[in-house]
Amino acid sequence: MAALADRAQADKANVQRLVDRVCAVFVLVVLGCAAVTLVAWALAGDDWGHGFAAALSVLIIACPCALGLATPTALMAGIGRGAQLGILVKGIGALEASRAVDTVVLDKTGTLTTGRMAVADVRPVAGTSHEELLRLAGAAESGSEHPLASALVPAAGDVLPAGDFRTLAGLGVRAVVAGSAITVGRAALLEADGLTIPPGLSSSLVDSATTVFVAREGEVLGAVDLTDELRDSARAAVAELHRLGLRTVLLTGDHEGAARAVAQRLGIGEVRAGVLPADKARIVRELREAGRCVAMVGDGINDAAALASADLGLAVADGTDLAMKAADVILVREDLHAVADAVRLARRTLATIRGNLVWAFAYNVAALPLAALGLLNPLIAGAAMSLSSVLVVSNSMRLRSFSPHGTQPARDTSTMDQDIG
Ligand code: ADP
Ligand code: MG
Repeated sequence: MAALADRAQADKANVQRLVDRVCAVFVLVVLGCAAVTLVAWALAGDDWGHGFAAALSVLIIACPCALGLATPTALMAGIGRGAQLGILVKGIGALEASRAVDTVVLDKTGTLTTGRMAVADVRPVAGTSHEELLRLAGAAESGSEHPLASALVPAAGDVLPAGDFRTLAGLGVRAVVAGSAITVGRAALLEADGLTIPPGLSSSLVDSATTVFVAREGEVLGAVDLTDELRDSARAAVAELHRLGLRTVLLTGDHEGAARAVAQRLGIGEVRAGVLPADKARIVRELREAGRCVAMVGDGINDAAALASADLGLAVADGTDLAMKAADVILVREDLHAVADAVRLARRTLATIRGNLVWAFAYNVAALPLAALGLLNPLIAGAAMSLSSVLVVSNSMRLRSFSPHGTQPARDTSTMDQDIG
């Protein structure tokens, strides 16, 4: 994490590259101005002393220190403040991308929900016992990092010998348990194997539960329903995103019912459910092709491609390693307000850079003619030049007092949700 933060601060921003190019021209222009000043004073018949002082003032006043400091100081202060707030920015490009973000795509399981799942219902078919179903599912899941696995493994009780684990991201798992091939996963996975889910098994009694099916050697043994709780901060965090003018989309591999229940409770208008991992990335790309600037927030292996495809990828705390690797920003705090904070901090940082650049340019443009006309003594020019740098640095340092969420009064967003829907 420390290495990531270092790399971010050493990275060169696009705006910095632009400033570097402008500076290269600016230096030549200023040297030219100084030479012209000197010659003009001499031609005007004045003594060389005055001309020399005026040319010197031009050089001093135009020393582009403030211009050079404008971008890096703001970026360092912004990225540093982010780290304090649990928002690790991996590169300056990420910060620049977040300014334009207008759509936030949120994964459900493990992102909006805690990912601490609990078994709510066990529904074996006739001839299979509760215990056996849980034992087989738990053993097969013991090779998985998924939140479902963390609930199913402890629920299994005693441990059966298992091996040959395979994770099918966003679909389920396969393993060999006590000598037989076990598959645990969504209906689509079992159906792809040519199995039919008995009609009585497919609908869960628990509204909003995630259902996984268990099969052994081509035979469906039953279903397990698991429930998950929303993160405490989820509702307020989504409302804050809306307040920032961002559209929200719920993107999940879970079935429609569970997705709708969560979206409704959080006020998210747009829902894409039952999505396969490759389709998550495709949906993000489609949104981008439709002209939206997309931030994706996710935690799972199945989110990695979508995180990488988005303009800005954010991985939540406790996510899988792969998600953290694919993301541009890692949120190391549990609280989902970090998403809105990241966007606001990026906007503030870029506004600060713009302010700094405008100030530094305006100052040079105003002071150069005065210096050339001999109205600024070199000593005053030196003081003014330092002062402008101090102003730019102080302006950047104001980012250190950027305050996280809760600074704006809460507003009713129910009408907004309708627009978004
Ligand atoms: P989300 O997109 O909400 O994070 P996932 O894509 O991780 O959800 O999971 C989508 C669906 O795939 C789950 O609802 C479940 O049916 C199935 N699934 C994924 N991983 C597993 C697993 N390890 N065991 C069983 N089922 C799984
Ligand atoms: Mg997830």
